[in-house]
Amino acid sequence: MTLSVLSHRDELGVRTGQLLVDGHWGAADGGATWTHRHPATGEVIGEFARASATDVDAAVAAARRSFEAGTWSRARAGERIAVLQRYGRLLREHADELRGLQALDNSVPLSFGSIYATSVGAAADVFDHHAGWVDKIGGQTLPPYQGGDHLTMTFREPLGVVAAILPWNAPFLLFAQKVAPALAAGCSVVLKPSEYATYSVLRMVELLAEAGLPAGVLNMVTGTGEECGEALITHSDVDKVSFTGSRGVGKRIVEASAGTLKRVSLELGGKSPAVVFDDAPDVTIAASTVVGAVTMGLSGQACVANTRALVHRDIYDEFLEAAKGMASAITFGDPFDPGVLASPLINEQQLERVLGYIAKGKEEGATLVMGGERLEGEYSAGNFVSPTIFADVDNSSTIAQEEIFGPVLSVVPFGDEEEAIRLANDTEYGLGAGVFTSDVQRAFRVSRGVRAGTVGINGFQLEPHAPFGGFKQSGLGREGGQSAFEAYTELKTVMMPL
Ligand code: NAD
Repeated sequence: MTLSVLSHRDELGVRTGQLLVDGHWGAADGGATWTHRHPATGEVIGEFARASATDVDAAVAAARRSFEAGTWSRARAGERIAVLQRYGRLLREHADELRGLQALDNSVPLSFGSIYATSVGAAADVFDHHAGWVDKIGGQTLPPYQGGDHLTMTFREPLGVVAAILPWNAPFLLFAQKVAPALAAGCSVVLKPSEYATYSVLRMVELLAEAGLPAGVLNMVTGTGEECGEALITHSDVDKVSFTGSRGVGKRIVEASAGTLKRVSLELGGKSPAVVFDDAPDVTIAASTVVGAVTMGLSGQACVANTRALVHRDIYDEFLEAAKGMASAITFGDPFDPGVLASPLINEQQLERVLGYIAKGKEEGATLVMGGERLEGEYSAGNFVSPTIFADVDNSSTIAQEEIFGPVLSVVPFGDEEEAIRLANDTEYGLGAGVFTSDVQRAFRVSRGVRAGTVGINGFQLEPHAPFGGFKQSGLGREGGQSAFEAYTELKTVMMPL
């Protein structure tokens, strides 16, 4: 049987992708389009507007006009809160439709679209959370320092025009992590979704207008990174670039921001370790948690997946057995089938990249415990790779150092706590980490010792109010919570002799 998702596309009633500028949907300059093929079936599922530098100019100009006009940037707190809360409600009402659009875009299975990080509910929670900050944008009143009657006050003001650039893997949550604090702070936005997740984001944008966001406050340009993304990050009238994606593009954004000293927030990749001690509360649960994050759902195409398992020698074999059991239960196929648990890789380039890393792992002497192959037969039109586990991995080898972004787990043995922390930190990345132990003091020692933005002790979950971001080359700044909201404001000091 050949897989096909076209009937789902017809049921969902999606339309050709368009650009949104100043409240008007339209085609790209010259009618240029970009074709997206479904990752599980290879079918063409959509032609999206491929924005050029001219389209980006128009979108940035619209955002600037709306910002200067003040309809949103100077709107009363109550107005902004009402729109953001209404939007949270609309997202929840449209959750099933959006989950379907995501399966159409990036083939994240419906089963996984209910798991928090990839769910519409998480995005709605982020909007609710940031709606709560709007009337709490506080400044300070400071006493005179040098004597005399002198009043000094600070204000937080909206930063201006924000370019928000999204990856494809968790479009709902990542849209929310940028757009919610930017709008809560009073900024105007030009949004660029990934070319591999346009349908879902397009619908989210349509719903913002329904929630009452004034035209021109959020504009959307679709298309490729090289063309439309570059035009955005080099644009002289963009005040801030908020980006989630790969480290290479993150570095390019830092370079491009130098011209006008744009503010930059970066959420990049990772090579996150899970440190499993011999006193882990349950080795099978630890193994399932780690392997599940790397092979289920997004098939390892998740920034924070624990792709390096550092496992104490005394429980090494037990861990590997449990890991194999979990990975063998992963099912593939039509993302609309509720029994399917994992997605294919997003495109053919990524498929080739992942297979290249698997070959490199074998070449560098790691033991291939299971998987490592492209799935054939009924899956051959898609980009499916079987869940792959490598044991006896040297932490300095390529597969333990580079972000593979596929269903590949490297299992590295260790002997004691000191060695575990050293191995955990032996990476250029620093996004997430896990610690599995029953010893509370050790749990905190290791958590403090590992240089990563988020550490889960015996488990991990994303929370809308918790800061999330990277140490080292995993990023700059934090999303989630108060610090994310403040990153869309400028701090102004006003002083006056009395
Ligand atoms: P990517 O960097 O290829 O693309 C991300 C976005 O940047 C896309 O919209 C793309 O069109 C755009 N882009 C590409 N080149 C550009 C350029 N020169 N200028 C401006 N924009 C450009 O990443 P991806 O494949 O979509 O996503 C995978 C990466 O994202 C992984 O590295 C993953 O770890 C990371 N990620 C990080 C987080 C986090 O929160 N830290 C979350 C999800 C994904």
